[in-house]
Amino acid sequence: MKCDYCKKQLKESYIKLEGKLYHKECYESNVAPVCHQCGKIINGHYIIATDKKYHKSCYNRYIADSCDVCGQPIYGEYLLNYWGHKYHSQHKNEFPLCRYCGRLICDRLTQGGVKYSDGRSICSLCYTTSINDRNQINSALKEIIDELQTHRITIDYKNITTELVSVNELARIMGSSYNNYAQGTMRLTEQLENGVMKSRYINIYILFGMPRVRFLSVLAHELTHVWIKLNCDKLPLKVEEGTANLISYLILKRIGNSEAEYIIKSLMSDDDPVYGDGFRKAKERFDRMGLNNYLSYLEHKKPISKRIAGLVEGIFS
Ligand SMILES: [Zn+2]
Ligand SMILES: [Zn+2]
Ligand SMILES: [Zn+2]
Ligand SMILES: [Zn+2]
Ligand SMILES: [Zn+2]
Repeated sequence: MKCDYCKKQLKESYIKLEGKLYHKECYESNVAPVCHQCGKIINGHYIIATDKKYHKSCYNRYIADSCDVCGQPIYGEYLLNYWGHKYHSQHKNEFPLCRYCGRLICDRLTQGGVKYSDGRSICSLCYTTSINDRNQINSALKEIIDELQTHRITIDYKNITTELVSVNELARIMGSSYNNYAQGTMRLTEQLENGVMKSRYINIYILFGMPRVRFLSVLAHELTHVWIKLNCDKLPLKVEEGTANLISYLILKRIGNSEAEYIIKSLMSDDDPVYGDGFRKAKERFDRMGLNNYLSYLEHKKPISKRIAGLVEGIFS
């Protein structure tokens, strides 16, 4: 019997590996895999990463990324979320996603979360700022109406009511225009007599329990619809929704925190032909002409109350 490495006669003790025989010294200094981390020989199983070999323990301790959800090392594929968390792909089936930030709702990433009665899952981080009562609504409404005013979008507080609703209630109010992404809607009712407006009601409906930044962006969107209905001629749906999203975008830019950036990113990458394309088109115009000119371009001298006699009612998401 000869050594498969040096081709010389083997002694009594030798190493046998995958059908080949070696002197112990030949094997250890020339054949055995060496750990790239600690430089020692690897007996038994090893891990190969980027063409280098490692003891499993060396790899786990020094090389492997650890999972942000379970803390165990990650081999091979993993998921990376917007916030830079890496985790094993199987966790996406184990935990719900937060509807508002896209984090997995689990102890390590979000300190848990809440499931609302209407089925929405929200993480603890988002839940801390969620809008649930009249005082919170009023302060948000004032903040946005004041801010819109600086963009020369003037809206009268009077006759605006804002209500928090569940997913089912929103779906019922919106009817066929409801979809899973809907977060709010507005309803405009005007009572006219002989072409003269007698009364006007504006109802804004927004999902309860949304984080404050999200709530503000939805409120800005719906209030922009209000302004458009009262100040512009009928606009194509894509232009109206795109403009409402543009105003949300301006509010989010001003807020400027990571939550706002997350929502902006989803606005920018929305592939919906109305909301997404409409927004990009509106933003392109806004970038070119500035907000003032853009709004003038939309405006029309005749609000609907002067044009139509009778009851005007519309629902706009
Ligand atoms: Zn040998
Ligand atoms: Zn090692
Ligand atoms: Zn994991
Ligand atoms: Zn969240
Ligand atoms: Zn809308």
